[in-house]
Amino acid sequence: MAARMDLDGRPIKPMTICMIGAGGFIGSHLCEKLMEETPHKVLALDVYNDKIKHLLEPDSLPWAGRIEFHRINIKHDSRLEGLIKMADLTINLAAICTPADYNTRPLDTIYSNFIDALPVVKYCSENNKRLIHFSTCEVYGKTIGSFLPKDSPLRKDPAYYILKEDTSPCIFGSIEKQRWSYACAKQLIERLIYAEGAENGLDFTIVRPFNWIGPRMDFIPGIDGPSEGVPRVLACFSNNLLRREPLKLVDGGQSQRTFVYIKDAIEAVLLMIENPDRANGHIFNVGNPNNEVTVRQLAEMMTQVYTKVSGEPMLQSPSIDVSSKEFYGEGYDDSDKRIPDMTIINKQLGWNPKTSLWDLLESTLTYQHRTYAEAIKKSMAKSTAS
Ligand code: NAD
Ligand code: UDP
Repeated sequence: MAARMDLDGRPIKPMTICMIGAGGFIGSHLCEKLMEETPHKVLALDVYNDKIKHLLEPDSLPWAGRIEFHRINIKHDSRLEGLIKMADLTINLAAICTPADYNTRPLDTIYSNFIDALPVVKYCSENNKRLIHFSTCEVYGKTIGSFLPKDSPLRKDPAYYILKEDTSPCIFGSIEKQRWSYACAKQLIERLIYAEGAENGLDFTIVRPFNWIGPRMDFIPGIDGPSEGVPRVLACFSNNLLRREPLKLVDGGQSQRTFVYIKDAIEAVLLMIENPDRANGHIFNVGNPNNEVTVRQLAEMMTQVYTKVSGEPMLQSPSIDVSSKEFYGEGYDDSDKRIPDMTIINKQLGWNPKTSLWDLLESTLTYQHRTYAEAIKKSMAKSTAS
């Protein structure tokens, strides 16, 4: 492999990365990228490894020996500090991060996103190890514009909705709206990491993902996850499409999101990994401001793309409205709009997303159809027979 150069033209030394939550959606893509394109070594920590099995075996893989899986629950495992000490860099992805859990399992959500992340920060700080911590765009909460009257022209002014790392406030709902337990826990761990940087010199980077989507995200209920489970929107809508049932639009599907292709976003993370001088001390939005849709528009686009990739006809009524109380239960609330400001990541890392929403949905739904269509047919045939 030719020597890799950083953004300032210096050769990049191979490093060892302790990746916590490596078996999840983002972790699996990051491990793949690191194995295929870099000489770095990964200590992959997670309680599951199904999504990275293809990288772990057989022993004849070109990167054999550069990735090691450690089945560890960071809540209670004394091996954690030793693994952080063995690495040059720790990346923490571990978290409960599906909205259906925030209001129904708020304690687990807060423990997972704050308490369980504390030892990771402490070990990095005490051992002078660099940390890349995964936060969320949800720390911004609601936009300032959402509090203006519906007909106010200021709602169209970007100053009232663009989310900017160093100036936007974090606006959450009341405590009864337990949806915000996740955002609040993530905000507090960000503040703690920032303070460790300021008071104890911790080298940190904080990543705020804005709806990264692609293959291997979450699970399809009843196939590779619990039948009653509620994953994030990509998997919910994929599940509906695969089962030929209407897509459920929560509270009319009026919320807006920007979606970025996982493979574009992973490029940004690799730039952070390999350019510490440009990434340390920074918080980065990572999203695609050009891919904004309402959830209703997302449902329409996914239905069209799925019709194309599966060759199956569209349903007569492709979507239905459902209340958030019915879908998520008491205490749900929503972010109204999420457009990342890209100034900081452009300036520090020169990164820009490339993939349009249509293209990323086409490759993702092709994957979903190829991976799940047969299994769904079989499971549906079984349940009608019994
Ligand atoms: P994911 O659920 O697919 O991955 C998280 C992984 O962490 C899972 O494999 C899980 O088993 C592991 N994990 C959780 N608790 C653990 C523990 N105690 N010990 C060991 N492993 C544990 O989620 P993801 O989409 O890959 O997200 C990764 C990170 O990025 C999370 O911190 C999440 O909050 C953040 N994030 C992601 C998005 C997105 O668009 N995907 C958006 C905002 C924030
Ligand atoms: N949503 C929906 N139908 C579903 C799943 C989600 O309308 O089947 C909505 C949800 O209310 C939210 C948006 O889709 O407005 C995105 O949800 P997701 O779970 O992906 O997470 P979020 O972006 O809120 O963190």
